[in-house]
Amino acid sequence: MTNKQAAIKIVKRLSKEGFEALLAGGCVRDMLLGRQASDYDVATSAKPDQIMSIFPRTLKVGAKFGVVIVLMEANQVEVATFRSESAYSDGRHPGSVTFTDAASDAGRRDFTINGMFYDLPQQKLIDYVNGHADLENKIVRTIGKPGERFEEDYLRMLRAVRFSTQLNFTIEPSTFSAICENAEKITQISGERIAIELEGILANPNRTNGAELLIRTELAGAIFPGFNKNQAKLALVILKNLPKKTDFPLALAGFFAGCETKFALEKITILKLSRNQTKHIKFLLVNRGKWLDEDMSLAQLKITLAEPYFWDLYEFEKAIRKTAGCRKDIAALRRIRKRIKSLGDIELKPKPLLNGNDLIKLGTAPGPKLGQLAQEIYIAQLEGTLQTPKQARHWAELWLHKHHFTEQ
Ligand code: ATP
Ligand code: MG
Repeated sequence: MTNKQAAIKIVKRLSKEGFEALLAGGCVRDMLLGRQASDYDVATSAKPDQIMSIFPRTLKVGAKFGVVIVLMEANQVEVATFRSESAYSDGRHPGSVTFTDAASDAGRRDFTINGMFYDLPQQKLIDYVNGHADLENKIVRTIGKPGERFEEDYLRMLRAVRFSTQLNFTIEPSTFSAICENAEKITQISGERIAIELEGILANPNRTNGAELLIRTELAGAIFPGFNKNQAKLALVILKNLPKKTDFPLALAGFFAGCETKFALEKITILKLSRNQTKHIKFLLVNRGKWLDEDMSLAQLKITLAEPYFWDLYEFEKAIRKTAGCRKDIAALRRIRKRIKSLGDIELKPKPLLNGNDLIKLGTAPGPKLGQLAQEIYIAQLEGTLQTPKQARHWAELWLHKHHFTEQ
């Protein structure tokens, strides 16, 4: 059962019990656009306790705010009672919730394109906010006065940029001005929530337009204090030169490509990213411009290739070289890629032909020299010079002899 089928089943059941039940918000927008919706939400006249008594498996995490999660096979469907919200105290949770009807429920939603309902049994669009016209004209517009709507929840400013990016819609002028006027208030929103929206913007193929909006509205400077105009200019070119399909860490590294690594790493702490994501971005920023020398030895190439995020570094480097406009450097990168391809399906980190114990048995004393010998053997192994333990042993014996380094 898909999420959509689960939502349909829930709507049918609620209708049968005499409640009004509609598909709501993002899924209606996406259905009209012929786009795959990420999830299907249901809005209903049934109150949370009524929803919970109708469906045997529910989660009541948001019941206080009128939201119940209905579990259906492997699906989770958000079923929310029609509600209006008043005065947000923390820029996130509404101060209080009043259960109302579909029309007021539409009014509490963020943008007109997100404020529509769909009546499945009647197969009818219910549009109290003129969302359909905005959808056709490709416009992101707040429901109600933009300044007031952003004041209730400043995250909506970033959501506007995200929807504009993902749908390739323009932000309606008065909505846009209100974002510019309130941009610095984005700091009232937690880093984690900012990061989710930024990911939606920067991981999208339309990321350059999204980043440009972040910069023009001054949201970028508010989120990352000190991020200046020159850095922004370079960010836009680098982002344009990245492949269409680029994940968040590489895109974010691209965004900070014009900044000193130390500054960039300090700024991204604001987003409270996971350790892996932070490591990923750090790897890209620290290693840009350092590697991928065309003349690297085979062993060096294999060691480099075995690095995590290698291909992201490759793409980052390519975008940087493209931006610098140096054709020779790009051609060199292409040759590295060819060379990697010609390696075929090789093992990048093979098991060493000889381990530390083997070397001690040969008469090497434990200590730094042993480490050096082991590394040299391993490099020769990666180069393909040494292929069997026997060859490696012979090689080690010669090495030890040459270095007059055997156990006394
Ligand atoms: P996506 O495809 O990214 O999931 P969505 O429109 O479904 O987009 P959600 O965050 O899943 O966005 O929210 C579902 C609906 O809830 C929205 O369409 C909107 O009507 C409403 N909504 C969500 N967040 C807010 C908010 N911060 N302020 C007002 N309404 C909101
Ligand atoms: Mg959604």
